[in-house]
Amino acid sequence: MSRVLAITNQKGGVGKTTSAVNLAAGLAQLEKKVLLIDLDPQGNATMGCGVDKHSLGRSIYHMLLGHAELSDVRVSTEFGFDLLPANRELGGAEVELIEMEHREVRLRVALEDVRRDYDFILIDCPPALNMLTLNGLVAADGVIIPMQCEYYALEGLTDLVNTLRKVRLALNPRIEIDGLLRTLYDPRSTLAQNVVAQLAQHFGDKVFKTVIPRNIRLAEAPSYGRPIFAYDKSSRGALAYLELATELNQRFGK
Ligand code: ADP
Ligand code: MG
Repeated sequence: MSRVLAITNQKGGVGKTTSAVNLAAGLAQLEKKVLLIDLDPQGNATMGCGVDKHSLGRSIYHMLLGHAELSDVRVSTEFGFDLLPANRELGGAEVELIEMEHREVRLRVALEDVRRDYDFILIDCPPALNMLTLNGLVAADGVIIPMQCEYYALEGLTDLVNTLRKVRLALNPRIEIDGLLRTLYDPRSTLAQNVVAQLAQHFGDKVFKTVIPRNIRLAEAPSYGRPIFAYDKSSRGALAYLELATELNQRFGK
């Protein structure tokens, strides 16, 4: 059975999409079967895997609304993992789902039949605590919370932890925080070091051992539609995401 992981943080620009794409690619390098789900109408994960969001016939939008099957939407990327792509149409789902029955469980139900085909299913959530994110949290076994080590990062974390508590009580009792991921890390910043110390105090071993450094190659790779391993596999960014994939695989990869 696969581990379904929602990569979430309602803050934008903290490295959710970068982590989702490169973790998918890193796990694929470890010969794991991976499905990456783009749940953000911005479609950045889709583009980052070399799939043109503008020329999708069917997208995850159609799947969530019941107008397409998962198999009609799924594409295989060139990088050894599968993708459920998204584009701006998905923004409409936010409103349309409100009127539907079982609106919070639609992604979970859609994944039921394919869970056994994968070792890991990664969900790239949008930067909001909305109906799409809720679908991601209800479908997930665990969450990965990427965060930039700066002061306001901790503030947003409280809201997220409260949301997770509510989701656990009402909709998905099995959801756990699998890990806090330090991203865009700059070891020269004393503030970053302070935040790291506070994180360790509050979350203990929930903080991943792997730290993702600020690395320009990670920012460049998406403009070529490639994960870091297909762009500069000896960069510090690539090594960090491979280390993270290994850390996750040791925990969950049976
Ligand atoms: P989110 O999905 O949380 O909004 P992104 O993954 O899109 O965040 O990252 C925000 C921006 O920062 C993007 O331009 C991305 O290329 C860049 N970025 C993300 N992680 C790193 C990193 N470790 N080093 C350098 N740039 C990064
Ligand atoms: Mg994103």
